Amino acid sequence: MSELRRIVVAGASLAGLRAVQTLREEGYTGEIRLVGAESHAPYNRPPLSKAMLRGDEDIALPGAGELGEEWLRGRQAVRLDAGGRVVALDDGTELPYDGLVIATGARPRHLPGRPAGVRTLRTVEDSLALRAALRSGAGRVVVVGGGFIGGEVATTARGLGLDVTLIDAGPYPMLDVIGEEAARWLAAHHERHGVELLSGVRVTGVEGAEEVRALRLDDGREIPASLVVAGLGVEPNTEWLEGSGLTLDDGVVTTPGLHAVGADGIVAAGDVARWPHELYGGALVRVEHWGNANEQGALAARNLLAGPAAATPYAAVPSFATHMHGARIQTAGLPHLADESRTVAGDPGEDSFAVAFLREGVPVGAVAVNAPRELIRLKRAIAAARPLEAAA
Ligand SMILES: Cc1cc2nc3c(=O)[nH]c(=O)nc-3n(C[C@H](O)[C@H](O)[C@H](O)COP(=O)(O)OP(=O)(O)OC[C@H]3O[C@@H](n4cnc5c(N)ncnc54)[C@H](O)[C@@H]3O)c2cc1C
Repeated sequence: MSELRRIVVAGASLAGLRAVQTLREEGYTGEIRLVGAESHAPYNRPPLSKAMLRGDEDIALPGAGELGEEWLRGRQAVRLDAGGRVVALDDGTELPYDGLVIATGARPRHLPGRPAGVRTLRTVEDSLALRAALRSGAGRVVVVGGGFIGGEVATTARGLGLDVTLIDAGPYPMLDVIGEEAARWLAAHHERHGVELLSGVRVTGVEGAEEVRALRLDDGREIPASLVVAGLGVEPNTEWLEGSGLTLDDGVVTTPGLHAVGADGIVAAGDVARWPHELYGGALVRVEHWGNANEQGALAARNLLAGPAAATPYAAVPSFATHMHGARIQTAGLPHLADESRTVAGDPGEDSFAVAFLREGVPVGAVAVNAPRELIRLKRAIAAARPLEAAA
């Protein structure tokens, strides 16, 4: 550990903050420079599509208010010289380092051409602006993309009594993430709560500039819209690393212990990191969940201090929870890797059930709707990579 005297952490959100806190907890006394493109102290994003839209503004992350002069706010890393161990910032500053934590996260995908009136939701500014628009009595809210953020925005807008249309390109929203049975249930759940669901269609054009009036769909329809939110997933913020020699492939590719492949003295954590997951035979995975950024930020810092030879692999089971129209939907593991799925508890008809996803008979993923105990049981089986019967 003692050879590290200057550590740069790029990205001042959850993973970056956890890295800084962990470095100090582990006894590192050298210099830290935390570089953050946003002007806010690191904050929690999950409330941005839920409580904050309803008026609750508590998005503080514990410890974020204690950052001192190590935090370079509103500054962006624009280039990495991995050989010379220097990070260049947008204001011309060059930060030499002995160790670097990459935690630059991800940004929302947009519709082609980034139409001006179409909103996305990633930052506190996005959330406040969307809240104001929702409260201004928007006519019809159209959400493009039925993933978790799209579904949460649709839920909140319906909760405010607004008319909502949800457009999804797949046969059912979230099919790739939660499998067919739960996705079918989710589609019906949205509709029972008054969401107009248009599945299997894509947006091909937008009528109106700053204020959208209508969306054109690939089936020839044109649907009226007053407020449009795109929830089309995210892409990792890696442009500043191009040409650095790091392996970039849908994120910063790392070792199991989160050390970046292609240069020494660099770790990556959170939404930007793609690592070989030991539970899944070393398949490269990138996970866009709060718990993952929280834990990886801490482990990446410890592994940076320990060095690659002594690094601990990151092998936690990914897990995620959301609420849509009063139902609690939880996932664990990676259902999309499965070759078989089985309903192991409850019944979709009763809005309470759990599905296990198996590969060659071994559980690799789980989805539970209003069935938290089942999720815990299944998550244990995934972590142990043992047949379900043994997990009872
Ligand atoms: C609306 C919303 C709701 C969510 N809800 C949930 C939920 O219910 N449950 C859940 O598990 N997860 C949820 N998530 C996901 C979760 O918030 C993310 O997984 C988490 O924020 C990832 O943290 P991170 O630190 O890796 O990256 P980010 O939070 O993306 O932060 C990266 C930071 O780096 C900055 N940055 C980018 N490039 C540079 C650069 N070149 N130089 C300097 N700084 C840079 C960015 O501005 C940003 O501040 C939600 C996300 C959103 C947006």
